[in-house]
Amino acid sequence: MVAAHGKNEISLKGIGVSPGIAVCNAQLLARKSETAIKRTISADEIPSEIARFEEALMTTHEQIRHIQKQVAEVLGDEHASIFDAHILVVDDRSFIEEVIRTIKRDLLNVEPVLLAVSNRYADMLAKVEDSYLSERAADIRDVTKRILGNLAGETVDQMKHIDEECIVVAHDLAPSDTASMNRERVKGFITDLGSSTSHTAIMAKALEVPSVVGLHNVTAVANKGDLILVDGTRGYVFINPTEERLEEYRKRAEEHEQIRLALDALRDKLPETKDGYLVPITANIELLQELDAVGARGAKGIGLFRTEFLFLGRENGLPDEDEQAASYIEAAESQYPSPVVIRTLDLGADKLPSGFEMPNELNPFLGDRAIRLCLSRPDLFKTQLRAILRASKYDNVRMMYPMVSCVQEVMQANTLLRECMMELAKEGVEFNKNIQVGTMIEVPSAALIADIIAPHVSFFSLGTNDLIQYTMAVDRGNENVAHLYKPTHMAIIRLIDYVVKVSHRFGLWTCVCGQMAADPVLVPLLIGMGVDELSVSPSQAPMIKDVIRKLYYSSSIELAQRALVSSSAEAVLELCHEMITDIAPEVIELSE
Ligand code: PEP
Ligand code: MG
Repeated sequence: MVAAHGKNEISLKGIGVSPGIAVCNAQLLARKSETAIKRTISADEIPSEIARFEEALMTTHEQIRHIQKQVAEVLGDEHASIFDAHILVVDDRSFIEEVIRTIKRDLLNVEPVLLAVSNRYADMLAKVEDSYLSERAADIRDVTKRILGNLAGETVDQMKHIDEECIVVAHDLAPSDTASMNRERVKGFITDLGSSTSHTAIMAKALEVPSVVGLHNVTAVANKGDLILVDGTRGYVFINPTEERLEEYRKRAEEHEQIRLALDALRDKLPETKDGYLVPITANIELLQELDAVGARGAKGIGLFRTEFLFLGRENGLPDEDEQAASYIEAAESQYPSPVVIRTLDLGADKLPSGFEMPNELNPFLGDRAIRLCLSRPDLFKTQLRAILRASKYDNVRMMYPMVSCVQEVMQANTLLRECMMELAKEGVEFNKNIQVGTMIEVPSAALIADIIAPHVSFFSLGTNDLIQYTMAVDRGNENVAHLYKPTHMAIIRLIDYVVKVSHRFGLWTCVCGQMAADPVLVPLLIGMGVDELSVSPSQAPMIKDVIRKLYYSSSIELAQRALVSSSAEAVLELCHEMITDIAPEVIELSE
């Protein structure tokens, strides 16, 4: 099909991670990694592509001079002179001109051209039988890596400085990129990488920006300025959509708007089943800007405050105790007397603040992150614990630890918490010494020793995003294995069932704050298994309330009983689908 302005429509299917429809022009962001994706550019883009290249060359030149100066100070001029060869590469006009000529001739973005030209030079030199010259090959590769890094490093800045309405097209976005995104201008975003529970997807949902991830090659197909239609609900992207397509989507958007308005009318109604069973809906938030949306969307209180987002996307260091306390107090005041569960820092892996020193790890998702990182950096942890305790003068404040994998972590964290309480008491600072402390259950080992952990906490919060990832050995952010990421896998159903039963045996309550709680199809099953609270992003709250209000608690129990004796993820999903189609078909309409 041909779009109105003469370009061919291209349709792509990815993973819809933040519902809604957006239509706007593409803004391409440089990718972060050093490998160079090939993308054709239009003739109009040539000057800006060359400007990107020259800017990256200048930055690289300055960086090398800076390093050279530091090396000279520490090791002497002799060692620093090694970098002269690097400077020669960035200043080499014939090398630079060849890159520029190829960009113009082949209409390609700078990264693959630079890589190809540099590989050619380096390969040629490597073959020369003169050790001085062959060593220069390594210099060329090194400098190229640095230039590519600088080209990619623009991503974060580009996100902050987007100055017109657009759909952001990127290879991948880190949570810190999305945290600094200008919501007014970014109408949607689409990426090559990612999957539905990646932290970037969570941010997209929080910001209510229609988004599709896991498109594999959208950065290679889309050009700057192309008209893009994003269907974040169903995971479709249309580049240069036809008039018919735009019309079809205008109608779809209107229908969705009608359903959404009807759901918004539930705002002040109780999340209560038809037979009078109450299931509190709280909100997951990442940023303080979301606080207003919590009540506006009919959630009551916060079930998960992902505090690490206060640390991401900042230019000036980490927030100190006063700044953190002010943020937690703002959250507590805004929801009072409804509860606010502050999760201690879940930093590490994909969530690293700029300038935060972390050793390189081969498997960061299994590495020093979350509670492990906090326990190994007591100063960082105690600063946060003190700030949370200061906010606990509002008695609706609760707290919990992320990524717990053994009971000792909970005990050590509680010891540090008690130390902070003693310090504050000595300083005469007000706090709640009976603050409820819970733990997230998101590692299978923690789920299986829930009975051993229970005596040390007041509640559990099931982080199903990670629980599924770690139980099934499926990276939650990797689109290549997204088909294996199955929330209804019997292993997950059994773990949830076990944790909920243990919590009740010990007189505790259990919330689900992972994405499963926000999936209307799975909500009856969770309720039937005895989950006491659902915490979801504010935008999902109306849909979840609608499901609860159309459900009989008694039938959810029957559903759970049948699910627990099923033998496959598909069978459980089928049972859940049957129920939702029966009780709330409009919800299916909204998600298809
Ligand atoms: C989870 O893992 O389910 C969870 C809620 O935590 P996060 O998504 O922040 O890892
Ligand atoms: Mg988690």
